[in-house]
Amino acid sequence: MEVFLYIVIAVVSTMLLMTLVFRSLMRKFSEKKDQEFLRTINLIANERAEANAILASLSIGIVAYGSDHRLIANNDLAREMLRNIPDTIDSFLNNFGSDNGMRASFLIRASEVSGIYERENNVYQIKCEPRHLDDSATRFAGHVIMIQDVTESTRLEEERRAFVANVSHELKTPLTTIKSYTETLLDWGLKEKDKQSVQKDLARIYDDSLRMESLIADLLLLSSIDSKAHYMKAKVQDMGSLCRQVTERLRPSAEDKNLQFECMVLPASALIFGDANSVERIITNLLINAIKYTPKKGRIQISVGNIAEDIYIKVKDNGSGIPAQDLPNLFDRFYRVDKTGSRQYGGTGLGLSIAHELTELHHGRLEVERQPGRGSAFTLFLPRADRYLVQTFLRLVNKDEVDDILGKAAAQTLTRILSESDWEVSTGPTADREQLSRVLEKIRQNVNNKVK
Ligand code: ADP
Repeated sequence: MEVFLYIVIAVVSTMLLMTLVFRSLMRKFSEKKDQEFLRTINLIANERAEANAILASLSIGIVAYGSDHRLIANNDLAREMLRNIPDTIDSFLNNFGSDNGMRASFLIRASEVSGIYERENNVYQIKCEPRHLDDSATRFAGHVIMIQDVTESTRLEEERRAFVANVSHELKTPLTTIKSYTETLLDWGLKEKDKQSVQKDLARIYDDSLRMESLIADLLLLSSIDSKAHYMKAKVQDMGSLCRQVTERLRPSAEDKNLQFECMVLPASALIFGDANSVERIITNLLINAIKYTPKKGRIQISVGNIAEDIYIKVKDNGSGIPAQDLPNLFDRFYRVDKTGSRQYGGTGLGLSIAHELTELHHGRLEVERQPGRGSAFTLFLPRADRYLVQTFLRLVNKDEVDDILGKAAAQTLTRILSESDWEVSTGPTADREQLSRVLEKIRQNVNNKVK
């Protein structure tokens, strides 16, 4: 009996022990499984977070639809661009691909499904591409849609096309005249026409060849500005004497029209840092226009002065004036108030755009206003030389990039001015304030000594 009891106790204990061991093994096993499961979940969550971070950092909008055509993912930029992202690819194509042919290309499985979509003055290029899980392209995974903002490049392309059309037109007009007048002279022969009319024809041919020449020179100048290859020999210049020179050069044309033509220089010195040829060109273009668009016995006033940190040059006339609706586009290339292209004034519409672009190269601004009553006023603002050089110096010291033509010339001038000082640009912004103000004073003095 006792033996039996021992056996039962032993079996029960063994069973209990086994149960305990099994349970503990099971627990361990299930803990391991849980851990693995958790690890997998974490991995997926991390991968998803990484994928979302990558999507968010892209500069193009991305929308992904799965093999069941349902939305899987999109980045914020795509939502910003299109405002709403449909749940299925079919509604996406209905919304954004019906007018631009994308939906049709998608349905016929064309090799490229893309189109342009415009919303609120923005232009987007949308491209839809199928994706596969393997290289053999048998396991279809869905579609990825890429949306790119092409507003700027479309605008530039349109500008380029308009520019080429304008150039061709402007060149064709004088060329046609030259051709037809030459033909007439050849057909009629010099002997059959009287001397006076031959002279008249030749004068016309000569005028139009000059017109072509000046148009080509203007185009070359604009092209050199565009390609940042415009040559500028920048230094400290006195705007007062520059304006007086230009005024005197153009005085005969003003006198031909009996115009009052005055140049008033208010400050003792009006120093700017710039290229004399370019600045002269800006003032010349403004004055030529004032002379051209002011009727006989009119009045043109040129004034030079200081305003805040700038030097200004104002050209005011009491001529034909400019309609308010033309003011916003006045500085565009080839823009003319008189769209008929009449020969009365002979312009090409490039003068003001050249003046404007040269002003920008000098970090200045060109403004136009309608005069009360009659006429117009153009004001050119250029930074005062000391201010511009001090600003450039601080930019160099702070290691800011100075890569424009004027900035580079200013850096050279500063190196020369400071060659004998206790300062080097490489000293950096850590130098003490007293030393800094000494250097700035030296730059100001050096600039202002130019007038003495
Ligand atoms: P253009 O060679 O035709 O004169 P611009 O670019 O110099 O070209 O000027 C553009 C247009 O601006 C001119 O066609 C003219 O209508 C207008 N304009 C410019 N300056 C004046 C001015 N002082 N008075 C009236 N209209 C002006």
